[in-house]
Parts: sequence; structure tokens; C-alpha cells
Amino acid sequence: MSKLTTLIRYFRTPKRFKTRHSITKLQDKAVCNHIKFVRQNSSFYRRLWDGYDDSQWREFPIIDKSAMMDNLQDLITAELDVEQARKLAERAEKSRDFSSKIGPYSIGFSSGTSGFRGMHIVSEAEQAAWAGFMLARGLGSSIFKKHRIGLVLRANSNTYESIGSSRIKFLFYDLMSPIDEIHDAILGDNLDMLICPPSVLSYFVDIGSKIKVKRLVSAAEVLESTDRQKIEAHFGLTLHQFYSSTEGEIGATCELGKLHLNEDVMVVQKEWIDEEKGWYHPIITDFRRTTQPIIRYRLNDILVASKQPCPCGDARESIDSVMGRSDDVFKLLSTDGSIELVVPDLIRRAVMQMSDSITAYIAIQKTRDAIQIQLQPDGLTNLSMAGFEQLWNSLSIKPPNIEVVPYTHIPSTMKLRRIHRQCD
Ligand SMILES: [Zn+2]
Repeated sequence: MSKLTTLIRYFRTPKRFKTRHSITKLQDKAVCNHIKFVRQNSSFYRRLWDGYDDSQWREFPIIDKSAMMDNLQDLITAELDVEQARKLAERAEKSRDFSSKIGPYSIGFSSGTSGFRGMHIVSEAEQAAWAGFMLARGLGSSIFKKHRIGLVLRANSNTYESIGSSRIKFLFYDLMSPIDEIHDAILGDNLDMLICPPSVLSYFVDIGSKIKVKRLVSAAEVLESTDRQKIEAHFGLTLHQFYSSTEGEIGATCELGKLHLNEDVMVVQKEWIDEEKGWYHPIITDFRRTTQPIIRYRLNDILVASKQPCPCGDARESIDSVMGRSDDVFKLLSTDGSIELVVPDLIRRAVMQMSDSITAYIAIQKTRDAIQIQLQPDGLTNLSMAGFEQLWNSLSIKPPNIEVVPYTHIPSTMKLRRIHRQCD
């Protein structure tokens, strides 16, 4: 049954859309049907949309992670005890045995970065459909060929095993294992495709990895341009990307390596942060997820809209990058005493100007006036602060203390965030 669902979604997922009109037509119809279902089956959404007509869905109240987690029991459309689900997910995470389920439902935690964890509940049918969608967006060649697909993940939510077949085999590598063991296992497994967090791929480059695959996909972490260049150069491949969060599959790259929003499964509205620069928070309405509906849900991520349509001809909107999350933005003191926001991209550029020999870095805002920078390789000399000086000047920021220390991150179950803020 679930394999059939996977196949159906695989074939129904268009490789590309010719026009915006065809996308909005599909979305309007799908969202209207979905809203009807959700209003009937979720008491949380029913209360939230009181006084709104279905046709006004574009203006429904916006929700976020805390609203979702606070109301999860009333929000889901399945008859399932959320407390019991939470305990099950916690146990699975500890034992690394992800085979347990409640009825047809799988429970997972998002690997939260700020101590605030999300929980997601998906049905078998949703998982199977999801797999079909991802195969259509990720495989790059026919589903009827043989594929050995490796996934390096923090938690296996039995999605992948369930859809394996004689032609398509999924191999799972748990990031709880030592990273060099994972590397050797991948080497021996003769994969066609590897789906992996970029921090792990970056580590493979550092150890001169001889892994050979036909397709390489970055997933689960924000992919930065510096990592991308490094990984592509080493493996001699275009690094593809799945951009997803607990709340859904938001984007995937086309054959040219450009990220397109998955507008055939969700509507992505924009909450502008800076319209001129194209920066926005996406507000997503996923019209495929029924167990835990995601409607007018604001993500913390900051996306950068592309100014030009992608030359691949796909009308699905493309983005230049995922800049990070709100708490990746530094908050520094300006010379007049007010707080000035500095986006990760500006910090990244200043760090990269410190030396031509930097292979990896992490920048953390520790306090209002202190930044720690970890650099790899160790012992770099003649570091230039010119990039930072220029940045402080241009934004009238009171220069914070910058402390340079050795690089400490080892790819593991800890998500890598190259730039983030640890203070308020
Ligand atoms: Zn494209």
C-alpha cells in the first residue's frame, strides 16, 4: 500500500511548472479542499479561524512554533495522545530504535538548536507520499533504475526503510556513531546518491575523502556558500540541496543547483524583513499534511528571494539562499546606544576576509559586545580585521571585542550553526 502511494506521488510530482498560473491554480484548489478538512477535524484551527470564511485563508491568523507546540493536542486531526507520543519519541531518541509507532503514526522530534524542540506526527500514508515526492525531486534519473541511497541523519524516523524496494535501497548512517566509522561505511557501500548534512560533507573533504557517488545532496542544515564551493570542488559534483524543517519540505534544487520552493505541496507567503534586499520570513501553508496541519505558519528562517527567474524554466519560485534564522542575526550596540541588527551574511563576509587560508569557521555572539570566532586551521597568522572594521563603520556600530580561538566543532548529532547569537 505505502509503496503504491510512493509511486503515485513520484509520477504526480511535476519535474517543472511552465507558468505561475498553473501553480496558483493547483494551489487554490488544493488549499480550499484542505481547509475544509482541517476546519472539520482540528479544534484548534476551527477556533482560530472563527469568523473567517474558507476563501479568506490567505489572511488567516499566523501561527508559529510555540503556538503549535502549546496546542498540539487540539491541533492534530488524529486520535492520538500527544503526551504518550512525546514519551515514545524521547525513548526512541535515547535508544536509537526508531521502529516504534503509535498505530500508523510516527513521532519525531526536530533537532532543535535553541533548546526549544518541535514534535512532528506523520502517518504512514504521509511518509510514503513524502518519499515519492523527494524521490521525484532528488533522484535525477528514473525510479526504475537501481539506486543505492545513503542517508546520514541525526534520527531515523523509519520513513526511508518503509519505502525501500528491490530497486531502491536506503542505507542509514546514524550520526551518533563516530564520524570516521560513518565515512568508512559509506566508502564500502557503493552508493549512487548520498544525502548528508553539509558539516559532515565538509569534514569528509577535510580528511581527503575518496567517496564516489553520482549525486550528492545537502540536507538538515543551512548550506553556506563557502561550504558549498569546498564540497563541490572536492567531489567534482553539483551539490544538490533539500531545504526542509520539521514543518515541511520547503525547497529542493533543480538541475542547475538552484533552490526552488516546493510550491506544489505548499503555499509560501512572505513576511518581508527587507523587501529591497529580498529578505523574508516564509509563512507556509502545507496542503498535503493532514495529521499535523501546518497552515499560515511562520518560520524563523530568513530566505533571500531571487531577483531573476531561474534559467531552468521551472516557474516555482527560486531563492538565492537560506540566510539563517532570527537568532542567527547579531544584535550589537550602535554608537548612539541603540541596538543594531547584523545579518549572518555580513558577519560571514567579514570572517572570510580575515585570511585566505580559512577552511572552516564559527562566529558566536557571546554578549552584547563580545564575539568569539573559531577558525580552522589552527594557528593562522596575520589575521585581518579590515572586514569587521568596515562593517562596524558602515553600520555605525560600537566595535565589539573579537576573540579568536581554535575551531572545535566535530560533526555529530549537534547541528552545526556557523553563525549564531547566544545572548538576548
Ligand atoms: Zn532552476
